[in-house]
This record gives sequence, structure tokens and C-alpha cells, in this order.
Amino acid sequence: MSDHTSVIVSVLPDCDFTHEKPVKAKYDGKTKMGPWANMCQSHFDQNGIGLGLGRGQKLIIKDKDSDDGARAEELDGTNP
Ligand SMILES: [Zn+2]
Repeated sequence: MSDHTSVIVSVLPDCDFTHEKPVKAKYDGKTKMGPWANMCQSHFDQNGIGLGLGRGQKLIIKDKDSDDGARAEELDGTNP
């Protein structure tokens, strides 16, 4: 994730823009209006300024089932 265009999250936030029903955001980014916001795809298309450092990140949901083998270090207090 060194290109600053995506970020891993465990839970997707809701889109900060108005929806009749809450919609999960797919991006956390700066808007054309200035403030940062969580945005769904359509609102990112309308209001986002792009991806990258200082612009925005795509939110990628962390897959709880696929990272078991990848986590060599667990901070669970097993130091001698
Ligand atoms: Zn939206």
C-alpha cells in the first residue's frame, strides 16, 4: 500500500453523503468542496478529486478468512 491509493479497513464506513438508505463507502478522500469524506462509488465519481497521497484512498475490506497464514506476528503478550 505504499502508493497511498488504498487502505485496508476491517469495517466499511457509510457514505457521508445523503442516501435514502445508508450505503457503504468505497473511498475515503478529499472532495471538491474541500473536506474529506467517506464516499460511495457514485459520490466519489461526482465529488472526489482522485486517489493518492493527500487526495484519497480506496477502502479495501480486510478479508478475515484469508490472512491467517500471513500474520506471523501476533501482539498477544507471549514474550518470555
Ligand atoms: Zn454516496
